[in-house]
Amino acid sequence: MTFLYHADSERGAEWATLFAERAPEIAFEYRPDEIDPDSVRFLAVWNPPANMLQRYRNLEAIFSLGAGVDQFDLGVIPASLPLVRMVEPGIAQGMAEYVSLSVMLLHRHFLDYAEQQRQHIWRIKRFHPASRLRVGILGAGVLAQAVIAMMRSFGFSLGVWSRSQKTIEGVDCYHGEEGLNTLLPTCEILVCLVPLTPETCGILNSALFSKLPQGAALINCGRGQHLVQEDLLDALATGQISRAILDVIEPEPPSKEHPFWQHDKIFLTPHTASMTQPDTAVDVVIANIRRHRAGETMIGIVDRSSLY
Ligand code: NDP
Repeated sequence: MTFLYHADSERGAEWATLFAERAPEIAFEYRPDEIDPDSVRFLAVWNPPANMLQRYRNLEAIFSLGAGVDQFDLGVIPASLPLVRMVEPGIAQGMAEYVSLSVMLLHRHFLDYAEQQRQHIWRIKRFHPASRLRVGILGAGVLAQAVIAMMRSFGFSLGVWSRSQKTIEGVDCYHGEEGLNTLLPTCEILVCLVPLTPETCGILNSALFSKLPQGAALINCGRGQHLVQEDLLDALATGQISRAILDVIEPEPPSKEHPFWQHDKIFLTPHTASMTQPDTAVDVVIANIRRHRAGETMIGIVDRSSLY
């Protein structure tokens, strides 16, 4: 009964050491060619390998190595085979750091000062107390809540939007279309942290931008397909959006000619807002396997109706 880590071998070797220390009873492998595929009961992958289900016929669970599962074709994975997304403290911490840093860069005009420096301009831009800046987050899940916990300490005014109604202390929570329409006009900075599903694909578009206050900034750490790229270029051209910090883009990497590379109001990072941290992720996965073996429900199982 093998756990196969089917991704980059450098991190696989790290996982192997941690598994050996923390769960020696689980046979762990990260070299797919070294084992009999029929022995694999648990498979951890980021991009699912071709013919995954034909090759590994005896799976009891698939673990996504990321928090999102949009890279899987959920239509072909039987509902009886649990797909478990990565819910681990290391990813949450990384995302909280990335979003807090991005909000701070915008709040304290660092990107404007970087432009000014290149032009040898010494000019102060006024900033207001953080409490006067409204940060809206699309999504109120595991990562959004980690972001909220970190941002709260800076005193920002926070609003979130989710599918179902939430109650989060000190945060204005909205849901549904009406809730989104109420939240957007109040947000100087909008952060996208929803999963990519048919419902959220293209959500960052002209219609949404037009509901934000003039000059709002956008931070996208969800997926590239959340954004309608032409609409962002238009919104930046009119000043409806003042700046965009994008961690994700479709496709990744963008072509050498892509207009976002050169755009002075777009700051790109290479899909690195957060990443699974072996040290914390291994504990979570081992605990889930033990839960599964005890007949209990694993944490992070993807709901096949909502697709996240
Ligand atoms: P969760 O499943 O915990 O949370 C998702 C949130 O989005 C929930 O609050 C959910 O609402 C809300 N949501 C989903 N669909 C809709 C919708 N149609 N309308 C309104 N709200 C919706 O996910 P995580 O927080 O763990 O992760 C979020 C995403 O972040 C991932 O799917 C991935 O795409 C992205 N990510 C990006 C990374 C990067 O490095 N750039 C790293 C890791 C993740 P409800 O609460 O009602 O269910």
